[in-house]
Amino acid sequence: MKKVVIIGGGPAGLFSAYLLLKKGFKVELYDHSSGFGKKFLVAGNGGLNLTHSEELSRFSQKYNPHEKFFSEMINEFTPEDLREFCTDLGVETFVGSSGRIFPKKLKAAEILISWLKALKENPHFSQHLGHHFNSLKEMAKVEFLVEEKTLEVEADFFIFAMGGASWGKTGSKGDWAPSFIKAGIKLAPFLPMNCGFERSWSEFFIKKIDYTALKNIALEFNGVKVRGEAMLTPFGIEGGGIYALSKAIRDEILEKGSSEISLDLKPDLSLREIEKKLGAQPAKASLSNIVRKALGFEAEVFILLKELYPNLKKEEVPQIVKGLKLSLKGIRPIDEAISTSGGVLFSEVTSSLELKERPGNYVIGEMLDFDAPTGGYLLQGCFSTAYRAVKSIGLHT
Ligand SMILES: Cc1cc2nc3c(=O)[nH]c(=O)nc-3n(C[C@H](O)[C@H](O)[C@H](O)COP(=O)(O)OP(=O)(O)OC[C@H]3O[C@@H](n4cnc5c(N)ncnc54)[C@H](O)[C@@H]3O)c2cc1C
Repeated sequence: MKKVVIIGGGPAGLFSAYLLLKKGFKVELYDHSSGFGKKFLVAGNGGLNLTHSEELSRFSQKYNPHEKFFSEMINEFTPEDLREFCTDLGVETFVGSSGRIFPKKLKAAEILISWLKALKENPHFSQHLGHHFNSLKEMAKVEFLVEEKTLEVEADFFIFAMGGASWGKTGSKGDWAPSFIKAGIKLAPFLPMNCGFERSWSEFFIKKIDYTALKNIALEFNGVKVRGEAMLTPFGIEGGGIYALSKAIRDEILEKGSSEISLDLKPDLSLREIEKKLGAQPAKASLSNIVRKALGFEAEVFILLKELYPNLKKEEVPQIVKGLKLSLKGIRPIDEAISTSGGVLFSEVTSSLELKERPGNYVIGEMLDFDAPTGGYLLQGCFSTAYRAVKSIGLHT
C-alpha cells in the first residue's frame, strides 16, 4: 500500500484524505493544532457558504488571473459534486436566494463531525495532531517539531495543505513559508484579501456609530460596481460589499497610500426620485428629519452624511446619497482578513499541482497563490485543488 502524508487538516487536506482513502491509499494526516478544521468552523459562524450555483464559466472568472486553470479544475470537481459529497456525509445543502450554497443548518460543525468520523472509521487512516511542520528534507521526507523534538517522516507522496496567513489562532499562520523559500520554491508574499480598510473618523462619529451596517447599498471602485452591504466600524469599513472590491482597493492603497470608493446609499432610486421624496417633506423640518423620513434612513446614516459633509445642504443630498465618496487610508491587519493572496506560485507546480522540483509533493488549497471573493469560491477552490492533486496521485496505485 502506498503511503500519503497530508500536512494541514483544513478542508483541502481533509478532502484529499477522504478521496485517497477511497482510492486505497494509506493516509497519515498531520496538523500542528489541537484539532482539525478550525478555520472551517470559524467560516461557519456567520453561515457556511460552501460554494455557488452560478454557471461554471462565470464561476471560474472569480479566480482571475488563474481563470483558465480553475475553469478546468472546477469542471472536474464541480459545485454539484461538492453538494454530493455533503450528501454522502449525511448533510443536506440548499441554494440561497443569492445563488450561494449553504448546508441546511448553516454551520460547519455537522459536516466536520461526519467527515472526521468517515476518516477515522478507515483502518488505513491515522491522525497526528500537535505536529508542527518544520522543514522540507530530501524528496521523500519532511521534518516536524513535536513537543520541541524533531521527527522525520517519510512517504511515497506528500500533500501540503497548510492554508494561508490569516486568522492565526485557527492554526493558519503561513509559518510554512520560510521552509519552502529555503528549499528554492518561489512564493508570492501574503497579502490580506477579503479584508477591511481603515480611515479616520471623528471621536463623535466613533461613539455614535460603533458597528453599523449599511444594507442594500451599491459600492463602486474604478468602474466596478457591486451590490451588497458594508459595516461602518470604529477603524473604518468592512463587510461583504467591501470584500468584493477589496483586491483592487488594497492594490491601490499599496501603490498610492490611499484610495477612494463611492457608495450609492439608495441604488434603487434615481436622482430625480430622491429629489421628489425630499421635496415632499415639510420645508420647516430639520434636514436630519427630512432626509431620514424621505429616504427611510436610520439616524446613523445621517450621522455618516454629516461626518463626511459637515456643511451638508438639502439640495446636495440627492447627489451625495447616490455617490458618497469615502477615502480609505489603510488596510486592516492580515490576521483579520477572511483570506490571503500569496503563497506558492502556480509557476512552481505542474497542472496536477505537483511541485516541479519535488515530484510526488503536491500543494493545494489556500497555500497556493490564488485569491477569490467570498461567495463560496474559496472553499470550492480548496476542494477542487484537492481533487486535482488526488487524481494525479491516484494514477500511481
Ligand atoms: C471568518 C472567515 C469566514 C470564512 N467564510 C467562508 C465562507 O463562507 N465560504 C468560503 O468559501 N470560505 C470562507 N472562508 C475561507 C475558508 O475558510 C478558507 O479559504 C479555507 O479554510 C482554506 O482551507 P485550507 O484547507 O486551504 O486551509 P486552512 O483551512 O487554513 O487549514 C490549514 C491547516 O493547516 C494547519 N497548519 C498550518 N501551518 C502548519 C504547520 N506549520 N504545521 C502543521 N500544520 C499547519 C492549520 O492548523 C490548519 O488546520 C472564511 C474564512 C474566515 C477566516
